[in-house]
Amino acid sequence: MNWYKIAQEFNDEPAPWEFPEAEHDYDPNWDYEVDDVPDTQLVSIAENIMTEINEQMIPEIGMGKAKAAYIKNAGEETLARYVFGTAPYPVFVINLEAIREGAEKYGVDIGVGIETTLTHELGHAIQDWMGMEMGEDEAEEFARHWHDFRQMYNFWD
Ligand SMILES: [Zn+2]
Repeated sequence: MNWYKIAQEFNDEPAPWEFPEAEHDYDPNWDYEVDDVPDTQLVSIAENIMTEINEQMIPEIGMGKAKAAYIKNAGEETLARYVFGTAPYPVFVINLEAIREGAEKYGVDIGVGIETTLTHELGHAIQDWMGMEMGEDEAEEFARHWHDFRQMYNFWD
């Protein structure tokens, strides 16, 4: 199946990256292959979590707004990344298909996988914004704590 051709039928041009709220002009297309036709079911899971991040998490700590770009062909190691330097308007890139494969491989619910991946990256965005080191343990605990309690684990005070 030729997804590029299908995308072309819906749209002549790939959708441009738009993040007007951000104070930076970072565009994920510079560094990644953006997926123009990501799986709609996985995107809807991700967008729900992004809404939660933007409405319930980010305002509480005074950051601006976060946005996710859906990428492909980034290698199975790249599940997601916070783009360093974009906070307080953090850009996340996320490879939904790689997360689906990982979730299947490790028997993790895909919804939980996408959620904790994005909140983990938010943890890194907070670390960057607060001038902290990129600690994996703190980011992981931050993601788990939100998943378990819907409360932000404060690793920065
Ligand atoms: Zn990490």
